[in-house]
Amino acid sequence: MSFFKNLFSKPQTKQLSITSNNGFHLRPVAQFVSVAKTFSCQITATFKDKTVDAKGVNSLLSLSLEKGDSFTLVTKGKKAEEVLEKLHTLFETLMHNDKEVKQIEKETYSYEGSAIEGDIISEGIAIAPLYTYTAKEILQKSDLNFQEALHKGIDELEALYTTHQKNDTATIYLAQKELLASLGQKSQTLTEFEQLVEKESQQLLGTKLDSKRSDYQDLLQRVKKHLGVELKVTFPDTPFILLADDLLPSQIDTLAKTKVSGVVLKETSANSHTAILLRGAGITSLIADTTQLLADTKVILDAHSGAVIYAPSSEDLQKAKNRLEKNEAQKALASTKRFENATTSKGKNIKVLANVSDVSSAKIAKEEGAEGIGLLRSEFLFKEEKPTLEVQTQAYEEIFTLFDEITVRTLDIGGDKALPYMTLPKEENPFLGIRGVRLFQTHPEIMAEQLQAIFLASKNRALKIMFPMISSVEEFNEAKHFAQEVANKHQLDIAQLQFGIMIEVPSVLFLMETFNEVVDFYSIGTNDLTQYLFAIERTHPTLKADALSPVLFNAIQSIVKKATKPVSICGELAANKGAIPKLLNLGIETLSISSKSIAQTKEEIRHV
Ligand code: PEP
Ligand code: MG
Repeated sequence: MSFFKNLFSKPQTKQLSITSNNGFHLRPVAQFVSVAKTFSCQITATFKDKTVDAKGVNSLLSLSLEKGDSFTLVTKGKKAEEVLEKLHTLFETLMHNDKEVKQIEKETYSYEGSAIEGDIISEGIAIAPLYTYTAKEILQKSDLNFQEALHKGIDELEALYTTHQKNDTATIYLAQKELLASLGQKSQTLTEFEQLVEKESQQLLGTKLDSKRSDYQDLLQRVKKHLGVELKVTFPDTPFILLADDLLPSQIDTLAKTKVSGVVLKETSANSHTAILLRGAGITSLIADTTQLLADTKVILDAHSGAVIYAPSSEDLQKAKNRLEKNEAQKALASTKRFENATTSKGKNIKVLANVSDVSSAKIAKEEGAEGIGLLRSEFLFKEEKPTLEVQTQAYEEIFTLFDEITVRTLDIGGDKALPYMTLPKEENPFLGIRGVRLFQTHPEIMAEQLQAIFLASKNRALKIMFPMISSVEEFNEAKHFAQEVANKHQLDIAQLQFGIMIEVPSVLFLMETFNEVVDFYSIGTNDLTQYLFAIERTHPTLKADALSPVLFNAIQSIVKKATKPVSICGELAANKGAIPKLLNLGIETLSISSKSIAQTKEEIRHV
């Protein structure tokens, strides 16, 4: 009976909207497909009259879904309703977590020699002779047939995905695996497979997915290798700067083990898989058209100012060498001194704390030299599913044991931060709607449970609780009152806890006198404060507010002047090299930044 019920049950449908600036691109599509494939029901996606199988990477990619597009997801058959809900949740999470690769800003620097300008993939300076990429196919013995070679390739990518789980690059291997599985299904022989790869990558030419053509070539090489046709690349055994049109993602690992000093590619983009892997491997690299350059000539690759300097003068070479040595020495010094205090040249001690999101990032912060946690972005603990009271309490307990100084921010959802299982009202402008502390009104149960978990985990220790997106004194008073009620209800002692606010909304600047009477501390969230000061959405694809605008420093100066309670900074600005001296001059004594910037920021402080 249930078999027939499932078979003839009504299809379930849901409209899904692309909210990521990157569109629905290969990596999230692969993550979606890898889950969709585990369900036996039929799953399709429809966009503008085109319906495709949502269990295939390239069929889903063929919809070319961009930010703002909406498509219909349809499930039909066994547990259709449940599957639809699961995929909906997964999709929302993927969209939320898909961060845009920001173009690295170029420094201004001049040389006497001629320069070819380009876009930075991975920062650094390299000085070495140019080497042009050379590869040739060599034949080896193989007993595998096409299907066996295909499956070997899929298994290899699965293994790479598993071993890279802890890195940002893991999903690249998952994406390639799903793509290979999807292409493989449509091919019976190597010739058919080659033709399909050729046809599909041709279709990407000039589209937003252009840079993914190298993934198609990579997969072809992987399968051919198992059939005995290996692409052999040779590299010099002395330092070199590699010139190539493009590289295959799978070649970066090998390249990183050579004497490579830098890489200049002609035909990739800053968010191609090759570029992501180059950044991950820390190889100085640039995108530039170097057709006119000759191999073996010594050049400077300046991936801070974004240029290749050919025919550099001896003075250019000396200057670049000095900068390179200084960079390396600074990095090494900063790293060895990361556990030491950051004291300015005038003897002022600046506290450097970390912005973290969960237990593992808090542990990393400790290893990187953080003196405490200045911002625990607690929403990350809620990212995939709502944690139970016990799970939350345990996570807070683990984090709290790591440092004496900790500031926990209550759930900051809304705007650019969605939770798949928390339905917020559809709003024309969510950045100005239900978000941050306003959740105390709309989702009191979730907030009460979170506070209870924090209080339970705090066990009478000192701790700072911070409310996000505060725009009025009443909001703070109500949130604090709410917290007190939670403590009373569960008979938890919160006498040791301090309550403060994030300054992200400009109205706070005009309410400082009243806030001074009620809050214990302030933390300036420059990411959102900048967005609201300039009315430029922080994730906007084309509009960008000037991160170092005097407007922002004036705002900070005004806050510091009026505040009678401690003020710290926890937005991106706090780790900006150009901003650090200015912030310290304004009287800021506590910075909270991402762990990877701690060693370098402490070193910057020592030079102020
Ligand atoms: C900020 O807005 O500056 C901030 C630190 O918070 P988030 O980036 O999490 O919004
Ligand atoms: Mg914020």
